[in-house]
Amino acid sequence: MNAAELQTKHFATLCVHGAGEADKETGALNTPIYQSSTFAMHTAQEGAALFAGEREGYVYTRLGNPTTAALEREIAFLEKGEKALALASGMAAASTAALAVVASGDSIVASNCLYGGTHKLFKDLLPRMNIEVIEVDATDSKNVQKAMQPNTKLIYIETPANPSLTLNDIPAIAAIAKKHNAKLLVDNTFATPYFQRPLELGADIVLHSATKYISGHGDTIAGILVGDGEFIDCARGEILRDLGGCISPFNSWLLLRGLKTLPVRIEKHAFNAMRLAKYLSFHPKVDKVYYPGLPTHPQHELAKTQMSGFGGIVAFEIKGGRKTGERFINNLKLMTIAVSLGDVDTLIQMPSTMTHSTYSVEELAAAGIPEGLVRISVGIEHYKDLLDDLSQALAKV
Ligand SMILES: *Cc1c(COP(=O)(O)O)cnc(C)c1O
Repeated sequence: MNAAELQTKHFATLCVHGAGEADKETGALNTPIYQSSTFAMHTAQEGAALFAGEREGYVYTRLGNPTTAALEREIAFLEKGEKALALASGMAAASTAALAVVASGDSIVASNCLYGGTHKLFKDLLPRMNIEVIEVDATDSKNVQKAMQPNTKLIYIETPANPSLTLNDIPAIAAIAKKHNAKLLVDNTFATPYFQRPLELGADIVLHSATKYISGHGDTIAGILVGDGEFIDCARGEILRDLGGCISPFNSWLLLRGLKTLPVRIEKHAFNAMRLAKYLSFHPKVDKVYYPGLPTHPQHELAKTQMSGFGGIVAFEIKGGRKTGERFINNLKLMTIAVSLGDVDTLIQMPSTMTHSTYSVEELAAAGIPEGLVRISVGIEHYKDLLDDLSQALAKV
């Protein structure tokens, strides 16, 4: 089936069938791994034309590779974007996107609750290049509107946010970006295109830490950007080319494989997460549960309008704060104490001292990240075994 026909099919079908047909020469159903750094040219003139951009083709894997190109076509297709760019990590995607949009003297308006590494990029490295980043509580779009400056070129949000699971109103913030001639970037790592497609809601750029759900198996570090042709060409030709954060063909292949099972994995992650969230919200030793699928989540209604499911991450506060939280985690037997998320294995960690240790005490408070917050990336094990593990560890504190 060709790409135009496939577009009329359901998302799960797109994930399995990909954006293209089997390899025309060999019939290989899966994209081969083109593990080659360089590509032979027929003549010196052809080389000159390739470098001058007068001719399309592969030159050198930092600039493009057939396996990576297949991944880029497929993720652009799934996110309903024009083009995509795969990179070495989610952070390579974040820095590349920022530098493709802003220059010295410009500013970025960003959510004050982002992945800890992104927050550090905004707090340390970009200000050194005379790029100001204004962080606001973006759960209220009015705060974004108020922070906009004449030199704001980029609005950067993460929804649902890591680790507070707060949401940002994508259509409302997209309207603010448009009014100010700025671009809106949405980090869609938590939701994945299965549950949320920000470009369809008005965003300009989608970012993924593909390390997480797109890989799904905890065996790859990778990042992805999706956007219009002009942005992606600039990100590839002006930024990635110079900064060099390219993905390896093998990792691109792992992500192509991951995408095929994305729908079944995400359904199971979300099914399990809902069961854990409900269990925790009735547990006497738990203070508060953060999960967009619970009616008690302050933005549950927004979640229902801009997402088609609530994802696989649950956070909660245990009574007694950080010390009790640490004791609880140390008593778990099945869940693994580890950062990262989106793996088939359940991973558990404490953001304030681990993934978000780049936040000061004041910044943690502003972002709504309590010191004792526990974040669970719910895996695809049988949920009853996960509940048993939570139950036995909670009984010990
Ligand atoms: C992990 C993560 C990143 C960074 O991605 P890496 O692949 O670790 O570089 C960015 N955003 C979110 C939401 C993340 O969870």
